[in-house]
Amino acid sequence: MSDRIFLSRAHVTDVEEKYVLEALRSGWVAPLGPMVDRFEREIAERCGVSGALALSSGTAALHLALLDAGAGPDSVVVLPTMTFAASANAVAYTGAAPVFVDATDDANVDIDLLVETVRTLQGEGRTVAAVMTVDLFGRACDYTALGTQLDALDVPLIEDAAEALGATHHGRPAGSFGRAAALSFNGNKIMTTSGGGMLLSNDTDLLDRARYLSTQARQPAPWYEHTEIGYNYRMSNILAALGIGQLERLDSMIARRRDIRDLYAGALADIDGVSFLGRDQGGDAEDNHWLTCITLDPKLIATDPTTVMAALDAAGIEARHLWKPMHLQPIHASARAATTGTAERLFRTGLTLPSGSELTDPQIDRVLGTLAPLLQGQAT
Ligand SMILES: *Cc1c(COP(=O)(O)O)cnc(C)c1O
Repeated sequence: MSDRIFLSRAHVTDVEEKYVLEALRSGWVAPLGPMVDRFEREIAERCGVSGALALSSGTAALHLALLDAGAGPDSVVVLPTMTFAASANAVAYTGAAPVFVDATDDANVDIDLLVETVRTLQGEGRTVAAVMTVDLFGRACDYTALGTQLDALDVPLIEDAAEALGATHHGRPAGSFGRAAALSFNGNKIMTTSGGGMLLSNDTDLLDRARYLSTQARQPAPWYEHTEIGYNYRMSNILAALGIGQLERLDSMIARRRDIRDLYAGALADIDGVSFLGRDQGGDAEDNHWLTCITLDPKLIATDPTTVMAALDAAGIEARHLWKPMHLQPIHASARAATTGTAERLFRTGLTLPSGSELTDPQIDRVLGTLAPLLQGQAT
């Protein structure tokens, strides 16, 4: 019982073991092979796109998608401020300048502000190479509200669906909304290959070019001929085998994470000032429930996320702040941002609770046993 409870740990079983062993024994111990091909096919099918390219990380997928969009030193990329650093890092790799946009109450990007920001930049004569949306914490953005507005502005959409595999928006899978989309299989994501990612697209040319760039940009010559700078971004066949096993179990892992969120929500329902991100904005059935995130209303709750996290930590329980907005990061201090204060408020009031699909009911009870009394103290 005294074992530490982690936020979101890899959940691996003998299903994965079987595939990894098969891959090892097949002799395909390389960043290519039948498991890579199969994993790409199965992920593409799951996400409702025609093609996928297995890569060494989600960040690599974003980088290649941005390069395809022509992001470079003379352009800007518009993306949410409320995201993990990787989204903005990928922009920086291309030399483009990131322009950050604030969030709405569910932490996903404010679509109206996003479109307005693109218009403003274009009005100033700036080249907006791409818009990158991020499906945060396993919840797809409001792509209905976005509609075809970006088409009218002639700006391609890149979807950072790193956290959102298995989520849908009005029945359509996350990862199918952009001209290109990125998934992540990092160790803490909804499913993992220990580390890895996938580029998704319906555009065969885009995927072909990304494949070429991801394998050191080798020209089709009998020797090693290079006319461009490439990258070493492909996924290993062994890790793809792990991914095939995880994908087989994805729906059950999503279901377990949903159950965990329901356990928290049920137990904390009577405490005024606790809100569940995503869940309280409706459409919960379409999330992949990657992380359960709550916000604490400082007017109703005496404590704050940092204090709660310290108390949980002392009890052997890992919790974390929500992503610190990019426009508040020292590295992006000089970047342009369209802000409303929502992302900053979510950061100051929010925290994520242990959400991993391997967590047992008694472990969730243990979290609640520490958490609920902390939140019950009234604000003065
Ligand atoms: C995890 C994550 C990434 C990066 O994925 P890696 O596979 O770790 O490179 C990108 N964007 C978001 C929003 C993420 O959460």
